[in-house]
Amino acid sequence: MTQPLLQTTIAGSLPKPSWLAEPAKLWSPWKLEGDALTEGKRDAVRLALRDQESAGIDIVSDGEQTRRHFVTTFIENLDGVDFQKKKTMRIRNRYDADVPVVVDAVTRKKPVYVDDAKFLRAETNHKVKFTLPGPMTMVDTLYDDHYHSREKLAWEFAKILNDEARELAAAGVDVIQFDEPAFNVFFDEVREWGVKASERAAEGLTCKTAVHICYGYGIKANIEWKKTLGSEWRQYEDTFPLIQASKIDQVSLECHNSKVPIELIGLLKGKDVMVGAIDVASDQVETPDEVAATIRKALKYVAPENLYPCTNCGMVPLTRDVAIGKLKALAKGAMILRKELDI
Ligand SMILES: [Zn+2]
Repeated sequence: MTQPLLQTTIAGSLPKPSWLAEPAKLWSPWKLEGDALTEGKRDAVRLALRDQESAGIDIVSDGEQTRRHFVTTFIENLDGVDFQKKKTMRIRNRYDADVPVVVDAVTRKKPVYVDDAKFLRAETNHKVKFTLPGPMTMVDTLYDDHYHSREKLAWEFAKILNDEARELAAAGVDVIQFDEPAFNVFFDEVREWGVKASERAAEGLTCKTAVHICYGYGIKANIEWKKTLGSEWRQYEDTFPLIQASKIDQVSLECHNSKVPIELIGLLKGKDVMVGAIDVASDQVETPDEVAATIRKALKYVAPENLYPCTNCGMVPLTRDVAIGKLKALAKGAMILRKELDI
């Protein structure tokens, strides 16, 4: 069966059921333990799949139901980082957090999400996307007392991510996405080594590879930061040409309710573009027409076969009802354009 164009997908996360973790909270602790937790996570993945499929989303994810946080959970499964010993550090130059310390060489003792990916693959006939943190964003959540070089640490993480990603692809994952919100903050480092580290993480992968850059979840620290970015957000102007020249296949950008000039998509010639048509910083559910309007604008700069209507970022901080409403609006908005273009 040929796939329709304008394949819809989500940035990654969805809210968790309240029996699994406290809703609307980042790093929310699990409410279950042991085998009950393992079973609960899988049930939550089934629900996340059902919500996406019944809303009409084409490329589905596990909604990150098995992890407490998109960066921390991956790092917790590695050796070389001490989570007991914490130091205070600025995250993305924006807020202070007590972060774990790199005390030794970082290594992956065993696959982190590969069983989750196999489960996801077995539970749906849709194409599946799996998200991993990007090397630079991982570096930015840790105090480095071993390598004393952000670049070196990023490179080690990139090698680890590549090992993990190859196994995810072998498990049948169609799209592997590296989440790099840090790309919107450390522009010199992105140019010097950030994009290269992403390419190293994606090296040799036969599935599609993606980078998700964004302006973050709709949490207070991010909303305050966005107020300082001026009337036009041109940060992608620095980064997109670098990604355009890289081997990464897909790039995301926030479009709906953002101040990103849409013409910046033009800097991504030849790439697939995940067009953010859903605002994750608002409880207001978009109408299908609003979604369609965003896609229509983006179509001036990217061909329909390269355009993937998407959310701006993860939806984990939202309520489940709002998130489901937004999934439906996204799928319906894409349908409007498919009819309009007769594709
Ligand atoms: Zn994001």
